[in-house]
Amino acid sequence: MSDLESFRAETRSWLEKNAPSELRQKATDPDAIVWGGRRPTYVYPQSKRWLDVMRERGWTAPTWPKEYGGGGLSKVEAKVLAEEIFRLEMPPPLYGFGLQMIGPTLLQYGTEEQRTEHIPRIVRGEIRWCQGYSEPNAGSDLASLQTRAVRDGDHFVVNGQKVWTSYGNFSDWMFLLVRTDPDVKKQSGITFILLDLETEGVSVKPIKLISGASPFCETFFQDVRISVENVVSEINAGWTVAKALLGHERSMIGSVFGAGRRAKKRTDVLVETARRTLGEREGRIQDDVQRDRVAELLIDQACFELTVQRSHDGAKAGQKPGPESSIFKVYGTELNQRRHEAMQSMRGPSAVGWEGPGFSEEDLQQTRDWLRSRGNTIEGGTSEVQLNIIAKRVLGLPD
Ligand SMILES: Cc1cc2nc3c(=O)[nH]c(=O)nc-3n(C[C@H](O)[C@H](O)[C@H](O)COP(=O)(O)OP(=O)(O)OC[C@H]3O[C@@H](n4cnc5c(N)ncnc54)[C@H](O)[C@@H]3O)c2cc1C
Repeated sequence: MSDLESFRAETRSWLEKNAPSELRQKATDPDAIVWGGRRPTYVYPQSKRWLDVMRERGWTAPTWPKEYGGGGLSKVEAKVLAEEIFRLEMPPPLYGFGLQMIGPTLLQYGTEEQRTEHIPRIVRGEIRWCQGYSEPNAGSDLASLQTRAVRDGDHFVVNGQKVWTSYGNFSDWMFLLVRTDPDVKKQSGITFILLDLETEGVSVKPIKLISGASPFCETFFQDVRISVENVVSEINAGWTVAKALLGHERSMIGSVFGAGRRAKKRTDVLVETARRTLGEREGRIQDDVQRDRVAELLIDQACFELTVQRSHDGAKAGQKPGPESSIFKVYGTELNQRRHEAMQSMRGPSAVGWEGPGFSEEDLQQTRDWLRSRGNTIEGGTSEVQLNIIAKRVLGLPD
């Protein structure tokens, strides 16, 4: 047996023993997602046990170094682990901006003290992070941000406002961009800094949406004191760190929604829905137009999977996500929207259900997922902005 085969065999038998039965077949159930933090919630009671056994092995962050609590696995081993978790259709034990965004950024740019303080707590799911980038007049034009940080001894005093802070009201810490020098080119006066949201002067206000949910917040800072030790990289060098984090964010959004086993599962559900609602003729979806649409989606998804795989191979060879993460962001999120649109067009009256009797939980979830997929092409930078980046930095086209 090769090392990898024995790793797979051991992992499989460990998972068979330790993966709680209640969570099997819950890989795509949004209620099975655990975000951790100081006030964690578990819709399924066994999610806590799943998190406990996985974090003990560092398998909430399988490839991160063992010295910071990670699993220390190679990329290939981590892929085997992911496959085995998916074989049981288990959800990931932990999810969030700590694992997906600030963790990888601190591993790349953080000081030893910052890594030692934050990475183990991210791995264990003890701290939930949110992102303080966007402001009322700085979304696509992020470098125009105005939240001001003025040096006072070994602290910065921060005043200003962020907006669209996803899950700010459930988070414990924020990574944010502040203006530390207003007199230089706008990108050159920005600092990337970490803030405990329990610090005096911070207020987080949920924005209520028409759906009744409040996934976004406005975050206000009034004379908030942050130690200079919380600056990541150098003062006024935050733009470079901010872009690196966006690379992780864009790769994550694109590949989570567009590729991978969960995306494939959604496409399988689409094919099954097409067969059920439109009927079959000689084993093929009966409606010619919808059959073409489904076939095109399957082909595009296969091509995208291969492209993502090529980039993962690059990551294995030590490459960090660069501007090509914008390609994943645009393509993965638009593929996901096309998949949802196709699904909606086949679901008939159940597609318009929002609440009440007559609609199954699955119906309602599919409608909500369809609406949520619209936001994917805005968050982390809109598709238009990604296309500009691809034109300039990937294709090298002139301004
Ligand atoms: C679901 C979701 C979650 C989010 N979560 C967070 C979060 O946690 N933290 C955070 O900081 N922010 C968050 N955001 C905010 C997000 O980053 C911004 O909405 C996004 O960057 C766009 O900025 P804006 O909304 O100000 O739109 P604008 O920048 O005002 O853009 C408006 C329109 O103009 C287009 N446009 C703008 N500039 C150009 C250009 N140069 N060329 C071509 N077209 C252009 C855009 O594509 C868009 O269609 C979230 C947004 C969404 C939808």
